[in-house]
Amino acid sequence: MSSVKFPIVSGPLARRNSRHSAISYGKRRVAVGGGAPVVVQSMTNTDTADVIATAIQVKELAVAGSELVRITVNNPEAAAAVPAIREQLDRMGIDVPLVGDFHYNGHKLLNDYPECAKALSKYRINPGNVGQGAKRDMQFVQMIEAACKYDKPVRIGVNWGSLDQTLLARIMDENAQRSTPWSAQAVMYEALVMSAIENAQRAEEVGLAGDRIVLSCKVSGVQDLIAVYRELARRCDYPLHLGLTEAGMGSKGIVASTAALSVLLQEGIGDTIRISLTPEPGGDRTREVLVAQEILQTMGLRKFAPMVIACPGCGRTTSTVFQELADRIQTYLRDQMPVWKVQYPGVESMNVAVMGCIVNGPGESKHANIGISLPGTGESPAAPVFVDGEKTITLRGDRIAEEFQAIVLDYVKSHYGKQAALM
Ligand code: SF4
Repeated sequence: MSSVKFPIVSGPLARRNSRHSAISYGKRRVAVGGGAPVVVQSMTNTDTADVIATAIQVKELAVAGSELVRITVNNPEAAAAVPAIREQLDRMGIDVPLVGDFHYNGHKLLNDYPECAKALSKYRINPGNVGQGAKRDMQFVQMIEAACKYDKPVRIGVNWGSLDQTLLARIMDENAQRSTPWSAQAVMYEALVMSAIENAQRAEEVGLAGDRIVLSCKVSGVQDLIAVYRELARRCDYPLHLGLTEAGMGSKGIVASTAALSVLLQEGIGDTIRISLTPEPGGDRTREVLVAQEILQTMGLRKFAPMVIACPGCGRTTSTVFQELADRIQTYLRDQMPVWKVQYPGVESMNVAVMGCIVNGPGESKHANIGISLPGTGESPAAPVFVDGEKTITLRGDRIAEEFQAIVLDYVKSHYGKQAALM
């Protein structure tokens, strides 16, 4: 019998060979591009002029794991508030770099509020919203000159909802001259890519170093985003920020962002990511950070927190005990991470299995660092626990959750960090 060779898929393709940009604040330095780990970004939705509300939300996003936080700088009040937000964050011990998001009046705000220009670690410029006609180039140049003066990197962030109409008209004219004109979709893709690249080149002509530029071309369709970024990656070597703009709410936003970003990340494209989720009213803004981390971690690109492997449950799990334990352990692990990542480095690689019955429970638990197989319907009320593949104890009674949590904590203390090294 001839043997069939199983194709070996070893993970994402090699990272695209982009330039390296560093975004820093104080001692904190976030490396972007040049093969550095993919960076998680987020954006506030507070009124930036409200210093306390914005500082609190930036802190929440940073504590959740956002490595860069963007704030809108849309008017004089917002620009005046930026240095105070920075000071408030410093007082709270939060050194996350702040990115200022500018549209329409960025040239004026950066000129009129130099303390704002200094307090920000990076400027995001949307070339479609810089100005009209003859003023456009002048205002773009003023923003780039501010970036040079204060030594700040810039993201040239194109968005198809605000595409430079002059450039689009030019590309449509060029298309009309073709013997076989491109489709309207292809013209749109070309306009997005050209807007990013031409503006980056213009920024370099003005004096901004090429390694101080990051590009993005956001669209809201999954296939559009993949097509545009593949082309952008092919035609330039600037680091790229990925994100599906206006991804939407709830599971739709998460699924669409994951579908688009995972294809590109698998191809080695993307140096920073943001998940543009619309929160439910009163919802938690930090969810977009969690989703970004989970995309990167489930793809094997980065590790942020221990992973809980849980079966979906079925007719063999008629009680909610199993769901409650899986939820409890997942929440516990996440809540501990701000402390654990300092005390127990490496803990983010740990896998914990919480399984609903004997069918896959013991097997999956043996593959994890720690696993528990809860009793399904009709099974004896006992929950074997597996540590590093070996069954170590069987839990019974009403305190299974507490006892399993204690076993997880013991494992963390004895396997990660300095204490583990002394054992
Ligand atoms: S492990 Fe058991 S409870 Fe979980 S899905 Fe499989 S059969 Fe159902």
